[in-house]
Amino acid sequence: MNELPEGTIVEQTFAARVFGCWHMKMSKLTTTGNVTYRYCTKCGMRRNYDLKSSESIGPFYAPKVSDDLHFV
Ligand SMILES: [Zn+2]
Repeated sequence: MNELPEGTIVEQTFAARVFGCWHMKMSKLTTTGNVTYRYCTKCGMRRNYDLKSSESIGPFYAPKVSDDLHFV
């Protein structure tokens, strides 16, 4: 219970990585629950993917801290 405060270090590193990242190298399709997305293999930002139209949709977004382990 008294481990490092989750989020503090992660957020700083995350911000540093995101800044200047063009998300050029995306992962393969990944599905969690009923959401399908691809994530940037460089910074981890995600973008939802629409299976019906076979294209990425919406803006990039940061994964929740609890989901981070998913792609590590
Ligand atoms: Zn990126």
